[in-house]
Amino acid sequence: MTEPSLYPCFLGPYGENDALLERLVLEFLRDHVFWRRNLYPEDPPAIPTRAAQQPAFQEFEARLRRELHTLSAALKRSVPFHSPRYLGHMVSDLLLPGLVAQILALPYNPNNVSDEAAPVTIDLEIKVGLQLAKLLGYASDPQQDHCAFGHLTSGGTLANFQALRLALALKCFPVALRAAAPPGMHIPDDDVQAFRLTPTQSIALLTDWQGWLAALEPAERARWRRTLEAARIEQLGSVRFFAMHPALLPPVVLAPVTAHYSWSKGMKMLGLGREQLRLIPERGMRLDITACAQALRDLDATGASPLLAVAVFGTTEFGTIDPVHELVALRERRAAQGKGFAIHVDAAWGGYLATLFRQEDGALRSLQSMRAEFTSFPSADTHAATAALGQADSITVDPHKLGYLAYGAGAFVCRDHRAMELLTETADYVFTGAAPSGYFERYRKLGQYIPEGSKSGAAAAAVYVTHRVLPLDHAHFGQLVRQTIRATEAFAARAEQFAREMESRLRVCVPYAPDSNLVCMALNPAGNRDVAVANAFTRRIHGAISTDTGAAVQNREFFGSTTTLRAEILGAQDMHRVLHELGLDANSMRADDPRADRLLILRHTLMNPFIIDDENGISYIDRYFDYLSRRMALLLPATPSPRAA
Ligand SMILES: *Cc1c(COP(=O)(O)O)cnc(C)c1O
Repeated sequence: MTEPSLYPCFLGPYGENDALLERLVLEFLRDHVFWRRNLYPEDPPAIPTRAAQQPAFQEFEARLRRELHTLSAALKRSVPFHSPRYLGHMVSDLLLPGLVAQILALPYNPNNVSDEAAPVTIDLEIKVGLQLAKLLGYASDPQQDHCAFGHLTSGGTLANFQALRLALALKCFPVALRAAAPPGMHIPDDDVQAFRLTPTQSIALLTDWQGWLAALEPAERARWRRTLEAARIEQLGSVRFFAMHPALLPPVVLAPVTAHYSWSKGMKMLGLGREQLRLIPERGMRLDITACAQALRDLDATGASPLLAVAVFGTTEFGTIDPVHELVALRERRAAQGKGFAIHVDAAWGGYLATLFRQEDGALRSLQSMRAEFTSFPSADTHAATAALGQADSITVDPHKLGYLAYGAGAFVCRDHRAMELLTETADYVFTGAAPSGYFERYRKLGQYIPEGSKSGAAAAAVYVTHRVLPLDHAHFGQLVRQTIRATEAFAARAEQFAREMESRLRVCVPYAPDSNLVCMALNPAGNRDVAVANAFTRRIHGAISTDTGAAVQNREFFGSTTTLRAEILGAQDMHRVLHELGLDANSMRADDPRADRLLILRHTLMNPFIIDDENGISYIDRYFDYLSRRMALLLPATPSPRAA
């Protein structure tokens, strides 16, 4: 059943809520115009009232219309993300509250680089950070010293980059402090110890240092601050920093092999180098914690120190959720041995899933009460991983993915805002002049902390208004997530039925139970043993549902995407299991043959809340499988017969 509360949330697949959208856009466009007119009513109109009758004006308007018609016509080739037939990537219809808030805010053009350019929307962005902090299980009351802090970014890529930057700053700060050697402060005995503090210990040291500085006379304070700054990696660059500390090696980032390629980009951008990114194997498509512990021991042997370990909460390719709770436990064990590292959870895709796990007061729902709503969601591990989010040091969430908001909205959230001090571009204002008295006052100079400079205040307004209209708990935003998880379970069940129906002609396998609303499906014509043949078959199926062939969108009945399974990612054991289920010969998978070095599979993202359309008794899931059957019927006789064994 579609929750009636979801009906007003979107423009709708058919544009059903056009009247609502039009009314709101028009109302607030007029409201903006009235604002302009009423602000200085004594200033007369500068553009003459007759201007519109002049030829140059008309010529301009004609050109404008022509270009807009061209653009509007061209955009009809867009991918129909809003349609329940779109099962491709991590995008769907836009939530109306965000869309309207963004359109409303655009003509005011706020720049969230600082409160001087965005007196209103900068606070909304800081509040969005607190809303997300609460969702993720962080302290979200700015009165608390250790309150979290979050801000928006252009996307998950930049949020992940911010995580790297912050982790590196925290890791290197104690080493710089040792070099500065402020008398009377309690600092680690040697560089190696300093480099191995946990993020929590580094933050405590930073707070001590700030207290130590505060007790000095202004001139002394400024001198000591300069001494410390001169010793920091941010000042020296990593080449000189590590040359000055020969006992240290550049730190290493651990990420599961399923991690998004933004991690590789980030390592390059930060100058740490991709070689310092170690990919950890998976088990059952989730981070293998034993392998992670082993990788840490291997690092110990080389003398290198881990900077950050990444857990993915909803992998981009497979939607699976890493055991955040196990990684947290591992971090605690290592911390007890004096070997600290930070944990970042990349929840760019899955962050908003957590809405389903939250009660209205922010408490975590029990596994049992959640299970009652689904067939098997969430798994005990997914529930435990969600419960552990609040113990990660930082988290990435993308409002422009499962938040159903327009592109240009990623988010970075860190557990303890005090760490952010290390990222300030000019630390001056903190200890000179009037120190910012409060949390909001501090972060209104947002441009000092974020990777970007100028950025959209309208995007912040969109996220804020959405979170206000649909609070981030199971009774509000979570309704949307609930609907899509139900669709996912229906899809997985239908895939099993499809497998039975097609048995004599086709092998079908869902390679692993989905943890989020993303389901993959592997196919192989019955009797075929050859991976290359199976891949060619899947490629032809996908050819008809992909958007990259340039054919008119109307000629596509459905939209899907693909990904691949590789032994390096899945692990040899799981790879064998999948190949066996499909009746494929493991020996036909060959690393030296680009047609057979991996298994191509279909990937479906089920974000649209109207995939199961009760109003008209239509299941687009059933229709999709009917469509697949028809495609298969056309393709199966045409597939090359299996090679002789
Ligand atoms: C999408 C995604 C990213 C990158 O986010 P962008 O918004 O595309 O920059 C990073 N990590 C994961 C897990 C993702 O799904």
